[in-house]
Amino acid sequence: MNITIIAGARPNFIKIAPIIEAIQAKKQLGFDMNYRLVHTGQHYDKNLSDTFFTELNIPFPDINLEVKSGTQAEQTAAIMIGFEKELQQNSCDLAMVVGDVTSTMACAIVAKKAGIDVAHVEAGIRSGDMSMPEEINRIVTDSLTNYFFTTSNYANENLANIGVSKSNIYFVGNVMIDTLLKNLPKLRKPQIWDDFGLKNKTYMVMTLHRPSNVDEEKQLEKIIQQIALLGKNYPIIFPVHPRTKKLLKGLDLNFSNLHFVEPLGYLHFNYLVKNAFAVLTDSGGITEETTVMNVPCITLRDTTERPETCEIGTNVLVGNDTNKIENAFNKLLSGNWKQGQIPELWDGNAAKRIVDCLAEIYSLS
Ligand code: UDP
Repeated sequence: MNITIIAGARPNFIKIAPIIEAIQAKKQLGFDMNYRLVHTGQHYDKNLSDTFFTELNIPFPDINLEVKSGTQAEQTAAIMIGFEKELQQNSCDLAMVVGDVTSTMACAIVAKKAGIDVAHVEAGIRSGDMSMPEEINRIVTDSLTNYFFTTSNYANENLANIGVSKSNIYFVGNVMIDTLLKNLPKLRKPQIWDDFGLKNKTYMVMTLHRPSNVDEEKQLEKIIQQIALLGKNYPIIFPVHPRTKKLLKGLDLNFSNLHFVEPLGYLHFNYLVKNAFAVLTDSGGITEETTVMNVPCITLRDTTERPETCEIGTNVLVGNDTNKIENAFNKLLSGNWKQGQIPELWDGNAAKRIVDCLAEIYSLS
């Protein structure tokens, strides 16, 4: 069986690492399972791409389509053209896409039109917010998927509601958490720990990159100013995503507790998260990681496609509503944050389950 795995952006690399390892392990057991890794080049910045391949021991991609940046349509088109050529030269039995980035959707379309089955890892999650490009990517990808690998019962229900047959839904757990659990013992202090004199549980970490927060300058300035003031007794470490960096330049954000840094590698970033007093974010993956590490998480979004992180995890949604942000800080600073529980099957074995399912589906031996 030949699987083509597609990855294009930072969260994809974190998700494919355990899947590739599980395929290699299955092959070692004598199963006829091979993979080819396609990097679309959607993220090409060293800090958002190469570092993850090195730190997470992901094999070098077989090909990089080098699409680089562009508008939504430009990127989608470039990925589709590149991936169609790739499939013409190297066909496969199954195209595996992960997550909800532009590469996920673009490659699912190309594979399906080429008559190739599609497996979607992290299928079925929905925020209900059609202004998020990721929501459109999820809907289009799931409309073309043959095998749906899911992280939660919410995802299973969402898929059932759009008519997906139960027999094609495989509730396997969360590959992002496979990577986290495997790497917890390897997390390491970044240089900025000493540079800013950080101490356990006495600083916060912030990440912002969703268009709803960062594409409108005044909005972004207002949110960051409020957070810097509410958290004035805490250093706030803010690894700045390239999309956000462009906007920050013109803003009035001179606070002595607010430290802007480059995006961090996985092992450094999650060391900071694990030891943080709290995290402020608009990322999806980070809400899952904080839930598993039991770190309070304030999400600067109105919706989530991962409701389990709010219901049983450590996450609270505040959007960009100043009252909600203030209430969340009051809870945090008075030591009244909820304790998290770990969602079902987020146990480090999701990738193995995916590969076992595929071996069964394709009757491999
Ligand atoms: N991450 C990282 N360094 C950073 C910021 C994030 O390694 O400076 C990791 C984080 O641990 C998580 C992933 O990147 O695993 C989340 O990626 P992102 O927020 O870009 O995507 P999303 O989850 O929102 O799709």
